[in-house]
Amino acid sequence: MPEDAKFQLLGCDRGELASLVEREGEPAFRTQQLLEGVYRQRVQSVEQISTLPQGFRSSLAAKRVSVGFPEIESRFTSQDGTIRYLFAFDDSQSVEAVWMPEGDGGETGDGSEAGDPAPASGLRSWDRATICVSSQVGCAVDCQFCLTALLGAKRNLTAGEIVGQVLSILSDQEVSPPQDRINLVFMGMGEPFLNYENFMKAVRLLVQEVGIAESRMTVSTAGIVPRIEDFGNEPVRPKLAISLNASNDELRTRLMPLNRKWNLEKLLAAARSFPLRNRERITFEYVLLDAVNDTAQNANEIVELLRGMRAKVNLIALNPGPGIHFSTPADDRVGAFQEVLTKAGIPTFVRRPRGRDIFAACGQLKQTVALATTLAP
Ligand code: SAH
Repeated sequence: MPEDAKFQLLGCDRGELASLVEREGEPAFRTQQLLEGVYRQRVQSVEQISTLPQGFRSSLAAKRVSVGFPEIESRFTSQDGTIRYLFAFDDSQSVEAVWMPEGDGGETGDGSEAGDPAPASGLRSWDRATICVSSQVGCAVDCQFCLTALLGAKRNLTAGEIVGQVLSILSDQEVSPPQDRINLVFMGMGEPFLNYENFMKAVRLLVQEVGIAESRMTVSTAGIVPRIEDFGNEPVRPKLAISLNASNDELRTRLMPLNRKWNLEKLLAAARSFPLRNRERITFEYVLLDAVNDTAQNANEIVELLRGMRAKVNLIALNPGPGIHFSTPADDRVGAFQEVLTKAGIPTFVRRPRGRDIFAACGQLKQTVALATTLAP
């Protein structure tokens, strides 16, 4: 450990903490105590890890070892109960993460909870709560309908910053996995597969140390084909969702410029050879833009593209935002689109918009501090 640099425990895995413990001349079982202090008890400072002897705590503090939780800079609460959190990091960059007490239908990747009855009495109201997590500050992918794209790419988040969003929200909501069930969707700001190593390290920490099952996690990619292939080989991994958003190459290139590099043929080939687990399906997300990609012809093209795949489709009617030059289709257009896919045998769900009034819904994450306060009804 460099003597002058700040060292943060959050984001360190078992191996890294074991080397720290060894360097400090402490017995090996201290590694477990550090892991539990950070990832289970979510202490704010090394001083608070009460299982450690005072001498070790002071020695760590003297070396400027900190836990490193990101600061919750502000919270915006929606009429539907969704909370958008703004997190600040030491370099004054910030990202957003979203708490959805009843999920948004994206958490299992199939939208199947959308029509579920309310949880039976006795279950806590957040029984299907979902946290939407960011992976980068800003985004490089430049999807034409997404507010985050307007920020451009600022930087990758570290594994600690990704895990930190989850842990800070769990503490704020007084929720503790694994006793309390929680779903994670890596669908916040940024493209997780352009920050692949940090994202995967965060996943492993969340599974192994925080205790959230990988089956309750879904990652969404805009379609970084080589990483889809790597992801299929991971021993521990969330479920996969792919942002399709268009039914042919001409349209997709217009809406998502990355389609020039990885077109539909390459993307769908990667999806077809993706090693699915038992009863797993790939989710395709499709943002519906009024009169742009939401016609019956588009729906029929999707049916052809996905033919023979173990897939399901999540439809998202555009969430509007300043600087986004598309409009939201009416409900009957969304319904008609869904019907074409369903009739062709593709399970298709409409994702409920969560927290639109506070700019917390899909594609709306852009640190809209002033906007959310002035536009919220
Ligand atoms: N970069 C990744 C992770 C973000 S997930 C990805 O693109 O998959 C965010 C989801 O919201 C994506 O499926 C995206 O297509 C969708 N989205 C983006 N902008 C939107 C908007 N304005 N309205 C509705 N959905 C949007």
